[in-house]
Amino acid sequence: MRVLVINSGSSSLKYQVRDTTTDEVQANGLIERIGEGNGGPLDHGAAMDLVATELEGVLARRPLDAVGHRVVHGGERFSEPVLINNEITRAIERLNPLAPLHNPANVLGIRAITAKWPELPQVAVFDTAFHRTLPEHAWRYAIPDSLYRKYGIRRYGFHGTSHEFVTGRAAQLLGIPVSEFNAVVAHLGNGVSLTAVQSGASIDTSMGFTPLEGLVMGTRSGDLDPSILVFLQRQGMSADEIDKLLNRDSGLKALAGDNDMRAIVDAAQSGDQRAAMALAVTSYRLAKYIGGYHVAVGGAQAIVFTAGIGENSSAFRQLVADRLGALGISLDSDANKVRSKQARVISAPDSAIPVLVVPTDEEAAIAEATLKVIQAVPR
Ligand code: ADP
Repeated sequence: MRVLVINSGSSSLKYQVRDTTTDEVQANGLIERIGEGNGGPLDHGAAMDLVATELEGVLARRPLDAVGHRVVHGGERFSEPVLINNEITRAIERLNPLAPLHNPANVLGIRAITAKWPELPQVAVFDTAFHRTLPEHAWRYAIPDSLYRKYGIRRYGFHGTSHEFVTGRAAQLLGIPVSEFNAVVAHLGNGVSLTAVQSGASIDTSMGFTPLEGLVMGTRSGDLDPSILVFLQRQGMSADEIDKLLNRDSGLKALAGDNDMRAIVDAAQSGDQRAAMALAVTSYRLAKYIGGYHVAVGGAQAIVFTAGIGENSSAFRQLVADRLGALGISLDSDANKVRSKQARVISAPDSAIPVLVVPTDEEAAIAEATLKVIQAVPR
């Protein structure tokens, strides 16, 4: 099958055409500056026209069979990928308040495809779906129930497509059936999240009501005392200013003056104290969470690193592993330094828990999920 994978943001649209039989990427691209007025496409419909033009050659040979959309928020309703129809699109739209930057853009992407290729089946793949198995004691905040009932304030978790994909590949690499696999999976990109996987299912994850909670990220603070927000508001900061502060001007960028892990590691190695402290804060918090999730899953059979930093930064992986000695974890420093696109074990033979690097591929996961949904629908 030939699947167009769409990742639609508020001002950008990433796409890939994939052959699900050969797992080959046949085309990909990025349309930027949508709706910004300076010569970019007017709206998501115009962006889809550009995609269609860019794909003309590819599609002349063989048309598309389906479209798979990355949708950020599936709320409490969506626990797996679904075939899109008008009702589903409206349901995604009703979740807009929970993901104001993302879901509206995802809906625009869906509607643009519907307008352009009405006959093409579309599938929504949700970033939150894998975490629908969180038990109540993990998803509930200790605040009045009325806030959950009125606004849906609870933990949802994100990066689910990646965590699920990586969990499956890690189990495969270790020869353990995924339904019997306990692991702690660290997705370390610009966004960072950790998932506790028990018997193949997500039972806890570090991102919560929004992707701001949890670990230190590129530009996001992760956990902090909620009173800080109230304090800053009383100092005269507006809600928008606080939102920007915590989502765009915090994390590694605030600590090290940079959110590129390569630059931070280089700076720390040449004696930059701020960079070294940024690495210490980030690796310390992550190690603390890994220890907690090892307990949560009843003993992990693997610790898994993925995404930009997890797959590529041997220095950062080493810093985290150095803090996990109490769990009997040690890396094979040569194996850790190997650069590869393959899933691999990087722990020492006598490490109490194997440590893995498993490259994530959200587009491949979305294409696979789309294929599965389409095949299950009687036509
Ligand atoms: P996104 O969440 O935007 O998809 P990525 O998964 O691409 O992000 O991860 C981005 C992060 O990965 C950045 O901090 C970047 O510095 C880091 N990164 C990418 N390549 C390397 C590398 N070779 N060595 C160290 N860090 C890397």
